[in-house]
Amino acid sequence: MTAIRQLTILGSTGSIGENTLDVVARHPDRFHVTALTAHQNVDKIFTQCQRFHPRYAVMLDAVSAERLSKKIKTAGMSTEVLSGIDSLEKVASLPEVDTVMAAIVGAAGIRPTIAAARSGKTVLLANKETLVMAGHIFMDIVKHHHATLLPIDSEHNAIYQSLPQHFNDDLTSVGVRRILLTASGGPFRRLALSEFQHVTPEQACAHPNWVMGRKISVDSATMMNKGLEVIEAHWLFDAAPDDIQVVIHPQSVIHSMVEYIDGSVLAQLGNPDMRTPIAHALSYPERIESGVKSLDIFEIAQLNFEAPDFARFPCLRLAYGALSAGGNMPAVLNAANEIAVESFLAGKMPFTAIPAMIEQVMQRISRNEVNTLEDVIAADTLARETARDWLMACQV
Ligand code: NAD
Ligand code: MG
Repeated sequence: MTAIRQLTILGSTGSIGENTLDVVARHPDRFHVTALTAHQNVDKIFTQCQRFHPRYAVMLDAVSAERLSKKIKTAGMSTEVLSGIDSLEKVASLPEVDTVMAAIVGAAGIRPTIAAARSGKTVLLANKETLVMAGHIFMDIVKHHHATLLPIDSEHNAIYQSLPQHFNDDLTSVGVRRILLTASGGPFRRLALSEFQHVTPEQACAHPNWVMGRKISVDSATMMNKGLEVIEAHWLFDAAPDDIQVVIHPQSVIHSMVEYIDGSVLAQLGNPDMRTPIAHALSYPERIESGVKSLDIFEIAQLNFEAPDFARFPCLRLAYGALSAGGNMPAVLNAANEIAVESFLAGKMPFTAIPAMIEQVMQRISRNEVNTLEDVIAADTLARETARDWLMACQV
């Protein structure tokens, strides 16, 4: 009989958070939810508290926490409501918790994710931004504090599943030649280039294969998501940028592949449903039911592959550039992208301004080394300010 795992779910009201709770609910004998966290969605987290009875619920801001607290008291529940970034760090490092799902979106996830690693937890990493912004700092913390890192991003989870079980940071020693990182190509793989300037937020968020949060959906449409994932793969598997080949695979059935020196290519396949990588990481090294339906290979019938088009997707080129520049540049890329996506979603600028803004910000900020989390946060702050200044200057 396996011991019950005590979970903290950071970002429980998001797309990954909800999928995690869906898998958890199928296995009450295996998992107990100790803490849930959300930004502002009081009603959703309240419903989750009613169902999963966590000891703690954390809201980012005090006003939302106050509202949640009232609802919890009125309902006669015992969940303790906390607020603020310190409380996110606290619930990520509780002694009674062994597993932390890091599913906050964006740079906001970095502090609690790092807190979980620092406490030696099993970290189920969905928040790719932590690795993009602070890859070597985070990986050092994971090693130093003997945390266990399991990737949730479907591609990285597929790579993880296609590597030998004893894989320990050295691809060459296990005979890997390269990683084939698959990408759907998003909703605009075939759109006429002249149409890109008219793309609306609704069109950009309508992913052909995956249902996801709005930010990552826009990232998929620009293919910045794949760029961030190249950086993520670099840090997770210690892979050189030249050994990570992006492959457009429109069906999103192969979630990524690993090529070995003997010519073997191992892949992980499945329906595009995040409950598969979530269940894999939650139960690793065992396997559990996830609720994902069987892959109907006859209905799929065909698997196609194309090389990525850097002219159509300049964000991919910018991400490779940031990775090879190193230092503060991946954090600058990530922050500029967050402001660009936010501005596009708010109707303040066209879709085509996303890569333009990021490129300008990367040019305006000089490259320097980042050695501490504070350095990373400083790079993030500067890039956000530079991006906002650029937007203001464009609008006058
Ligand atoms: P989402 O927008 O659906 O949910 C984000 C969660 O983070 C919500 O619970 C929200 O309340 C919380 N949050 C947002 N801003 C916050 C802040 N400032 N402080 C504290 N909490 C905050 O996002 P998502 O699609 O679930 O993605 C979560 C992470 O997982 C992202 O890093 C994304 O790149 C990654 N990811 C998502 C998918 C997917 O299928 N959705 C796939 C791979 C990786
Ligand atoms: Mg992915």
